[in-house]
Amino acid sequence: MVQARSGWSIRYIGFDPGRQGLRETLCALGNGFFVTRGAHPEARADDVNYPGTYVAGLYNRLTTVVDGRTIENEDLVNLPNWLPLRFRLDGGGWFDMRIADGLEHRVELDLRRGVLTRHLRWQEPDGRRTAMVQRTFVSMKDVHLAGLQTTFTAENWSGRLEIRSGIDGRVANTGVRRYRGLRHLHLRVLHAAEADGQTVELQAETTQSLIRIAVAARTRVCGDGCRDRRLVTEADAVLHDLALDLERGRPETVEKIAALYTSRDHAISECLQAARQAAIDAPGFADLEARHAHAWESLWSRFRVRLDCADQWAEAVLRLHTFHLLQTISPHSIRLDAGVPARGWHGEAYRGHVFWDELFVFPVLNFQFPTLAAALLRYRYERLGTARAAAKTAGYSGAMFPWQSGSDGREETQRLHLNPNSGRWLPDYSYLQRHVSIAVAYNVWQHYLVTGDVPFLRFAGAEMMIEIARFWASIATYNRTLDRYEIRGVMGPDEYHDSYPDADRPGLDNNTYTNVMAAWVLRRAAQALDTLPPHYRREVTEDLGLGLAELDRWRDIASKMRVVFHEDGVLAQFDGDERLRAFDWAGYRSRYGEIQRLDRLLEAEGDSTNRHQVSKQPDVLMLLYLLSVGELRDLLGSLGYQVSQEQLVRTVDYHLSRSADGSSLSSAANAWVLARIDPARGWQRLLRALQSDIGDVQGGTTAEGIHLGAMAGTIDVVLRCITGMRVDSDALRFDPLLPPQVTKLSFSLHFRGHRLAVSLTGRYLRVSSRRGDPSPIRVAVGERLREVAPGTRAEFVLTTAVEPRSPA
Ligand code: BGC
Repeated sequence: MVQARSGWSIRYIGFDPGRQGLRETLCALGNGFFVTRGAHPEARADDVNYPGTYVAGLYNRLTTVVDGRTIENEDLVNLPNWLPLRFRLDGGGWFDMRIADGLEHRVELDLRRGVLTRHLRWQEPDGRRTAMVQRTFVSMKDVHLAGLQTTFTAENWSGRLEIRSGIDGRVANTGVRRYRGLRHLHLRVLHAAEADGQTVELQAETTQSLIRIAVAARTRVCGDGCRDRRLVTEADAVLHDLALDLERGRPETVEKIAALYTSRDHAISECLQAARQAAIDAPGFADLEARHAHAWESLWSRFRVRLDCADQWAEAVLRLHTFHLLQTISPHSIRLDAGVPARGWHGEAYRGHVFWDELFVFPVLNFQFPTLAAALLRYRYERLGTARAAAKTAGYSGAMFPWQSGSDGREETQRLHLNPNSGRWLPDYSYLQRHVSIAVAYNVWQHYLVTGDVPFLRFAGAEMMIEIARFWASIATYNRTLDRYEIRGVMGPDEYHDSYPDADRPGLDNNTYTNVMAAWVLRRAAQALDTLPPHYRREVTEDLGLGLAELDRWRDIASKMRVVFHEDGVLAQFDGDERLRAFDWAGYRSRYGEIQRLDRLLEAEGDSTNRHQVSKQPDVLMLLYLLSVGELRDLLGSLGYQVSQEQLVRTVDYHLSRSADGSSLSSAANAWVLARIDPARGWQRLLRALQSDIGDVQGGTTAEGIHLGAMAGTIDVVLRCITGMRVDSDALRFDPLLPPQVTKLSFSLHFRGHRLAVSLTGRYLRVSSRRGDPSPIRVAVGERLREVAPGTRAEFVLTTAVEPRSPA
């Protein structure tokens, strides 16, 4: 059972083997550099438990022969486990949660301090009762260190308790069941030994990327109850056995401090020596924990969102989402060469790859921690060369970023995937999701808008936008009959459609999201260039060989891009979607109950989602997620399509009713879109989106890793969607639509050097700037524009009642 408590913690009571994987993911601890799943320290990987530790961006490549084809996969590597701490009562069997007579088991994640606490009481068959309290953290301050403190109390007996503590290098990537048929041994252990009387160390190396990983762990007994200690070396594991003489009712505490380094770390000579020294020299658990908690306090001072609403659990879940966002991406990420992983560094789903999901993450980072956003955008910039090469190989110009990206930015999308429902390996065309490059350009431009950082635009941003614009200009083809440009043979974000029924090649034509946003990219890339001061503009155009003729062509495409509409004016998902078969939603729901993964269900029946009017995510609605209604109408208008507000509302209604909501991202995006049309319904959708991971609504996927985009997306709905916050003509604009379920919302954000506190109620919006010396900014609500200087505040009285514009 999971409970959200006091807004700052989540608590699990009891032990549910079937949901242990989910709990391990949601209780994972990390600091942006590494993440360790919240597994029980005494457990080994099996069908219930899956201890896993992952370093940001640490991948390895293996090949496997499947159905006679050699396929290559690059995976985020599960690293040697620093957690192991087993225990038993003198000579008995090692404690095992699954067979023990547990009297009490409670696990509580303290989101404010980043500490996981576990309370356990159990009874031996002979009636001896023992209590254990275990506290774990991965330091947000000392980036290479983690701590595990365990206190045992013999409740009704005195005698010996044995502990085995150390490091286990016998790890493999077996966290995702459907990948188990693929090779999964990524490490070889090079060294496992005792470093000193309290410390053991282990070094391993990845088999292909040749990255060395060193872990050292020091185990100390705090009181005087420790007796014998001896070294135990098992193949690829190194541990210490300790004996504790427990006296009835007197607690004894054991502290384990682990240090993790890799050969890619900065400011070290050699990673094994660095890990050994760090573990030996580390202060005790309490000191380290205090430093760690302090680092969290300062993060929360930036990222805290206050929400007064009827559904108070929503605030706790939003904090859980912020917590995992910050464990995946933290100030420590600034020094790393890692992107924004779709599933956090919390598990092995999607192999730790980077997708377009960052589109849901950057907006939050831009406004909350722009330096961090800039550092993460560099992950893409460093891989621009590979994206250029990919475009060239495919016959295009500019840069084509891969659908799935890992170490070096090449296309990592698997060419075959397994449908667990049918057991069949199927071709995977999802690499045709060229729209990922739109996400990169959008993020670059939004970052510039929020920060006004001209050097960023000059030395990285504009180049990315221009190369991406070039790609879209080259993939677009001119249709003379229509006098329109088209984009053919691609996939939109909706993965239920990768080709036309019975077509002999994959891909679809004129996906509305892709076409409209490609036009947007072409316009914004030109605007980015115009934004640069003349000498920078000259440097960039000369450097990239960008001439007036090319800019003219961009302009032509950006005003003649084809957008397909249904007969009644609803925006199509892609050309021809209206001609597909209507789907029997009621029949499938009654037959299967849960139908989020219709692609798998239909394929197992010998059918295909390609034949039906169903979507995994209604991707045309992403336009309303990325652009305000006004911006979208203007953009469509400049393409020659006059689209009314009412038409957009019908478009929302039409596509929502044909979506299986099979992607966690769509739940956040749909909540956003609805919240701007009908705040009360949008809020209900947001509550559903908040359930994605904590309720594991996809039935098992969260155990394989969090859904980072959906987590960040829900935060963004609260920050930007409810407030209607966006940057426009250098002003920070608000267009609030507070749902009736919410009475007050407040948070702080960064804008152009200001730290602003924003609070919104049904009656007013207040924006105050902290003292400092940045130049005044402009803040606007509708026509009302105010200047805000550091140390001052603007208050807008909100008089207009919100008229729900509910879809029919
Ligand atoms: C979604 C994609 C997403 C990917 C990684 C898929 O299920 O359809 O949109 O990028 O998961 O999160």
